[in-house]
Amino acid sequence: MHAYDELIRALTPARSVILLSHLRPDGDAYGSALGLGLCLRALGKAVRIFNRDGLSQTYRFLPHAELIERTPARLPEADLIIALDTSTEERLGLVDSLKPVVNVSVDWNIDHHVSNTGYGRRQFITPSQPATAGIILDLITTANWPLMTDIATALYVGLLTDTGSFHHRGTNAHTFDQAARLVAAGADPTALARHCYQNISPTSFKLQQRAWTNWQFEGALAHTTLTAQDFTDCGALPEDTEGIVETGLTVSGTELSAFFELKADGGLKVSLRSKDAINVSDLAVTFGGGGHPGAAGIGFKQDGAANRQLVLDKLRKAL
Ligand code: 5GP
Ligand code: MN
Repeated sequence: MHAYDELIRALTPARSVILLSHLRPDGDAYGSALGLGLCLRALGKAVRIFNRDGLSQTYRFLPHAELIERTPARLPEADLIIALDTSTEERLGLVDSLKPVVNVSVDWNIDHHVSNTGYGRRQFITPSQPATAGIILDLITTANWPLMTDIATALYVGLLTDTGSFHHRGTNAHTFDQAARLVAAGADPTALARHCYQNISPTSFKLQQRAWTNWQFEGALAHTTLTAQDFTDCGALPEDTEGIVETGLTVSGTELSAFFELKADGGLKVSLRSKDAINVSDLAVTFGGGGHPGAAGIGFKQDGAANRQLVLDKLRKAL
C-alpha cells in the first residue's frame, strides 16, 4: 500500500487542515469529508469542513454533521487544503461570480472520479474505488489512525450511497471487505439505510410524483424533465431530486436514463445513469460535465431548453 505513503507523510505534520467537497453534495461528499475530518481531529489537528451548499436536510443525521460549514468568501489559514470527491475545481463552487474565494490552491485532490481533471498540487485519484469514502478508509487503515464509530458511520454512508447500496459497477470483494471493517468499527447498516433511503421529505415525494408522470421511453432510453415551476409548486429544494434518475433504469430493457432540470435562470442540470451499454462519463465530458461510467452529470449555465435537445440527440445516437 505504498500509494498512501506520500499522503500520510503530508498529513502527519499538518496542524490545521481544510476539507472541501463538491457542490450539490451527496452521501460520499459529506461522508468522506466528515470521516477524514473526525479522524484528523482525533489526531489533534484543527479541522474545518467546508461545502459551498452547506449541510442538506437528508444528511443532518450524520454524527457531528454540524462541523460541515458553508464555504466562506475567504478561507481561513491552514497548513493543508484537501479536496474530496470532486472531479473539477469548478465543482468546489469556489469561483462564484459574486463572491470569489481568492486564496485557494488545493494541496491534495483526493477522488475516485475517472474524469478528475487533476487540479490539485498533488493528486490521489483512484477510479477503482467505488467511493471516496473507501479511499479514506484505506488511508486510515494503512496509517493505523483511529477508526471510531462516528468515523466509521460517516464513511459507511459514503460507501453505501456511492455504490448504490453495493450494486453499482466497481463494487467488488474489496468493497464488501471495507463495509465489513466499517460495520466492525460500529457503523449500523440498518439504521444508516433507514436514514439514507426511508427518510425523504413530503416535498421531495411530491416532486418525485411529478417526475414519475413525466417519464418518456424511447427504446432503451428513458428520460424525464422537471422545471423550476415544478419545484415551486411542490415547495421542493434542489436536493429533493435524489433518486429520480435511478427510477428510469428500473424498467426492463432500459439502458440509459436521463433526468433534466430546467432552472429558473435558464440553466440546465443533467443527470445520467446507465446499466452497461453506454459510458455516461464519456458522454458528459463532451458537454463539459463528468462523473463515472455508470453515473454522470452535466451543468449548463444557459440555453437550458436547447441544450436539453442537444443532449437528448446525443443520447439517442449513442444507443
Ligand atoms: P448526479 O447526477 O447524482 O448529480 O451526479 C452523478 C455523478 O456525476 C457524480 O459522481 C457527480 O460527481 C458527477 N457530476 C454531476 N454533475 C456534474 C457536473 O456538472 N460536472 C462534473 N464534472 N461532474 C458531475
Ligand atoms: Mn463519490
